[in-house]
Amino acid sequence: MRFTYEPLPYRIIFGSGSITQAAEEVRRIGKRVLVLSTPEQRGDAQALAASLGDLAVGQFDRAVMHVPVATVEAAAAVARELAADCTIALGGGSTTGLAKALSLRFDLPSIAIPTTYAGSEVTTIWGLTENGVKTTGRDQRVLPRAVIYDPDLTLSLPAGLSVASGLNAIAHCVEGLYAVDGNPIVSLMAEDGIRVLAKSLPVILADPANEEARAEALYGCWLAGSVLGAASVALHHKLCHTLGGAFDMPHAQTHTAVLPHAVAYNAPAAPEAMERASRALGGRDPAMALYDLAKELGAEMALSRLGMPHDGIAKAADLATRNPYPNPRPITEAGIAALLERAYAGLPPESVVVTA
Ligand code: NAD
Repeated sequence: MRFTYEPLPYRIIFGSGSITQAAEEVRRIGKRVLVLSTPEQRGDAQALAASLGDLAVGQFDRAVMHVPVATVEAAAAVARELAADCTIALGGGSTTGLAKALSLRFDLPSIAIPTTYAGSEVTTIWGLTENGVKTTGRDQRVLPRAVIYDPDLTLSLPAGLSVASGLNAIAHCVEGLYAVDGNPIVSLMAEDGIRVLAKSLPVILADPANEEARAEALYGCWLAGSVLGAASVALHHKLCHTLGGAFDMPHAQTHTAVLPHAVAYNAPAAPEAMERASRALGGRDPAMALYDLAKELGAEMALSRLGMPHDGIAKAADLATRNPYPNPRPITEAGIAALLERAYAGLPPESVVVTA
């Protein structure tokens, strides 16, 4: 065994009602906090600001997807005007993304209070969009100083969004299991992440107010975010990125439809990863188990119905093989085309049976 592991210096406060610890956390990093949110979560952000009393100097409630530079600059101007010395991001990946951009560009440290399962609060990955072009990178300065995981705040996350976001988190875990820079700690987190998410998501779909399942899913998403933050991604994420960019396909749904096929493709070359994934999925063949889980959760599994044209298969297979990256099984144009053909039609993955 041989590996390098550099844990990120994050501080996690987890548990029902833990949002009440926000003031204590703000005091650790600053004196004047700007509360960030999307317009949709303005009310919750207002309540949070009120609970912070004099510590909260104001609100910026214009966070949107993909972190446009103009939004970051507008938020920075508000922060400057109010002499804020830190931010608190209440919301999903979009709001956390804004806080990260403010850390990167304007040195404002942040606290994250996630309300979705995106997991970005525990990664050093930042993103910024300017003139329609999204740039991403990794920088430790963007890591929130503390993350408050309060499952009560996820009770309002609609079941459909919860499922899409949770399946995405499973994809982070799966690829962490066979990442070129993975290690035994990452694998432990990934395996447990898959286990708790696969268990809790069906419960959430049936009963979105189930507190135990909400807590489990949020714990799983912390693990998934940690895996994403610690290890590189491979075939699955790269392929989804290619499809999203080439055919403007919906992010989370594309991930869900591709994952079982990417797992089936890599299975023969990643037996240890598959053994762990199988253990997390009740001893079943992981590719088939993930396909069945997504179907059970009502996901659309045909890329054709997510906006992919049939002649896109050849184009995507070509694009996917142009820039080589580490992956357990060599990536061939024919192999990717065959994988995509099945995903296009929504067929089950062509699986080599690997179980724990
Ligand atoms: P989001 O933050 O865009 O939120 C989607 C919508 O749901 C928003 O309107 C939001 O206000 C609402 N919402 C959030 N929580 C809610 C709740 N509990 N109840 C009701 N409504 C709620 O969505 P997201 O999926 O969390 O984040 C997606 C973004 O995050 C993408 O841009 C993606 O690229 C990014 N991301 C970044 C990383 C990273 O490491 N940098 C990781 C994962 C995702």
